[in-house]
Amino acid sequence: SNSKLPDVGTTIFTVMSKLAAEHDAINLSQGFPDFDCHEGLVSLVNKFMKAGNNQYAPMSGIIGLREILAEKIEDLYGTQYDPDTEITITAGATQAIYTAIAAVIREGDEVIIFEPAYDSYQPAITLNGGITVHLKLRTPGYTIDWQEVKRSINPLTKMIIINTPHNPTGTVLSAADTLILAEITKGTDIIILSDEVYEHIIFDDQPHHSVARFRPLAERSFIISSFGKTIHATGWKVGYCAAPKNLMAEFRKVHQFLVFSVNTPVQFALAEFLGQKGHYLSLGKFYQQKRDYFIDLIKNSKFGIVPSAGTYFQLLNYQTISNEKDTDYAQRLTKEFGVASIPVSAFYHQQEDNKVLRFCFAKKEDTLEKAAVILNKI
Ligand code: PMP
Ligand code: GLN
Repeated sequence: SNSKLPDVGTTIFTVMSKLAAEHDAINLSQGFPDFDCHEGLVSLVNKFMKAGNNQYAPMSGIIGLREILAEKIEDLYGTQYDPDTEITITAGATQAIYTAIAAVIREGDEVIIFEPAYDSYQPAITLNGGITVHLKLRTPGYTIDWQEVKRSINPLTKMIIINTPHNPTGTVLSAADTLILAEITKGTDIIILSDEVYEHIIFDDQPHHSVARFRPLAERSFIISSFGKTIHATGWKVGYCAAPKNLMAEFRKVHQFLVFSVNTPVQFALAEFLGQKGHYLSLGKFYQQKRDYFIDLIKNSKFGIVPSAGTYFQLLNYQTISNEKDTDYAQRLTKEFGVASIPVSAFYHQQEDNKVLRFCFAKKEDTLEKAAVILNKI
């Protein structure tokens, strides 16, 4: 075939959200809140639009927002990023991920990713001529086998992509994981792409181990986050990347020709909103309550609950309910029972089926209750 992505179809998030809509099912598939973002935010965007901030933002983002991010990263993780040269505002994390990969991956470079993996990593690697090395997280617990990582590193290894808190499993990396990663890659030029879009959605008083906490790693890392998760506005598609100056210079070379710059009034609104601080610090508690509410509602169902330590996702296994492939079961659950989820095999390049589905609990209590009534009847 002439396709550059012969193995890629339509992303599972689009497939399942569409199916949910067609069958009027409760949509716990694609990750997004079913409640609105802060009212204050909408008025702020409105205010900045009315004030005439409607033309191109600077290529790397408005400086006020980059300064606030630099402050936040230093406050929380102790590393300084120069807002002028080391932070760029992007059209969501998706664009940041693609940009970072396109900026540094050449034909034949190997990139290690861990499966189940977020679905945008591998196509971005492939489109840039890279070779994806798929390593599996070890179950139970979905942990990284660092010995295997060590064995997989060779002179072609250019990048390792990590994601904590992790979509779809909800696991988080520990300080020990980060230290081992630093140790294993010490003395190499291996670049770390650290997908930290759920950095503030972490539960049970666990700290988030940003690679920004570890100087030796931060010096070789692109750190990517997303305002979509942090301010309950996935539809605004604004995120950012932080990286040392040399990596950020390469990142910006690509960024300027992919999008040039990002939505101006939204950036001003975010700068003012985040300037008030505090909001993201309560996000973990906010979603922990939803996680606990959801699992309490379904604790007597036939579904097996896989612990979630972060993100707004809950894995449920249905081993004792059905033998169907997870893609089939997810379809049937949507069409016949009216609850949409994501089959976790979609996060494996060989569609590994462990009879596990991902449910998004970024929903109103009422939505979770209605879904639970259905899941409890199965
Ligand atoms: N990485 C992960 C792990 C995600 O879950 C998401 C959002 N689903 C993204 C990246 C993309 O974020 P954005 O919507 O800001 O592009
Ligand atoms: N990140 C969201 C999820 O995992 C979806 C993002 C998207 O639809 N591309 O569900």
